[in-house]
Amino acid sequence: MGRFDSIVPKVACIGKQNAVSDSVDSIQVALSSALGGANSLDAVEQLRVDYLGKKGQITGLLKALGAMAPEARKSAGQAINQLKNWAQEAIDQRRDGLLDSAGPVIPVDMTMPGFAVSPGGLHPITQMMYDLDDAFAALNFEVYQGPEVSTEEYDFDYMNFPPEHPARESMDTYWIRNVAGNSRTCLRPHLTGGSVRRMMMGPPPYRFVYPGHVYRNETTDSRHERAFTQYEALIVDRDVPFTAGRLLIDTILETVFGRPVKTRMRAGFFPFVEPGYEIDMECQVCQGAGCSVCKHVGWIEVMPGGVPHPNVLRAAGVDPDEWTGFYVNVGLDRLVMMRYRIDDVRLFHGADLRFLNQFR
Ligand SMILES: [Zn+2]
Repeated sequence: MGRFDSIVPKVACIGKQNAVSDSVDSIQVALSSALGGANSLDAVEQLRVDYLGKKGQITGLLKALGAMAPEARKSAGQAINQLKNWAQEAIDQRRDGLLDSAGPVIPVDMTMPGFAVSPGGLHPITQMMYDLDDAFAALNFEVYQGPEVSTEEYDFDYMNFPPEHPARESMDTYWIRNVAGNSRTCLRPHLTGGSVRRMMMGPPPYRFVYPGHVYRNETTDSRHERAFTQYEALIVDRDVPFTAGRLLIDTILETVFGRPVKTRMRAGFFPFVEPGYEIDMECQVCQGAGCSVCKHVGWIEVMPGGVPHPNVLRAAGVDPDEWTGFYVNVGLDRLVMMRYRIDDVRLFHGADLRFLNQFR
């Protein structure tokens, strides 16, 4: 009886609007049932195409609206659009439900122990460089970085190297190639040229350090490498007594080594200083007793230094009659050798993890 009632009025009043209403109802029932049985994403997608695609059933109903009388079109259009929105939502819900229930592609057992990630560490030379940065920063020094590819002008001419100085030639310096202009390009054989670059940036006074790699074409042995790290410092002020330089060195070494370190200064010649000094520290490998690192003298040269040569100051645009200063050129690799009592500098660059892991 009920079924009959529901059908009879529609059959009795056949009109376009009722036909649309029937279609809307039957499509909703059919799609609802089909979605319940769609157990894969592909099946859900196929239903979307069948109902909402270009040739889908709901799309077909919308297209048919154009042929309807204007008064019937409005209510039929509303019904079809409602159906369309419902269908879109129902399809989306079914797809999301399938995605949620599918679970992760690769099962993960959260109770399993994780993978051990071994932490990296700083290279002992880098550690020493940072420690020196801290020690100098505490004395109000700025950290400056000069370029590794430099020129003959900065690294030799401004540094007061005479034109015939042997370090200019390929026995020591890696010349890259002659570029336009008069100045030859090289891998910097020392850092000191960078000090002129920094001084040119502004007027004195200066108080800065400038660490970095330097390159020399040398035969490697237990104390020499072709590429190594240097660490330099420069003070320029109106009055820098020699004792200030000495005190600076002793303070820095004590800070870095955590205890007073015996040092001595000897007269030494370097083109960029006048007067110049060789600054030695007691060999920490043998505690002054003599070993292969210190050539059995108990002392090791770690930092040349001295008062900037007037020609160097002039090259940087600084008046040597008004300003003076003190250079310290730390042999960083040697300082690290002393800190850890390492007897062969080549170990630092061998990339041997058995060696490097000891410093983490
Ligand atoms: Zn020694």
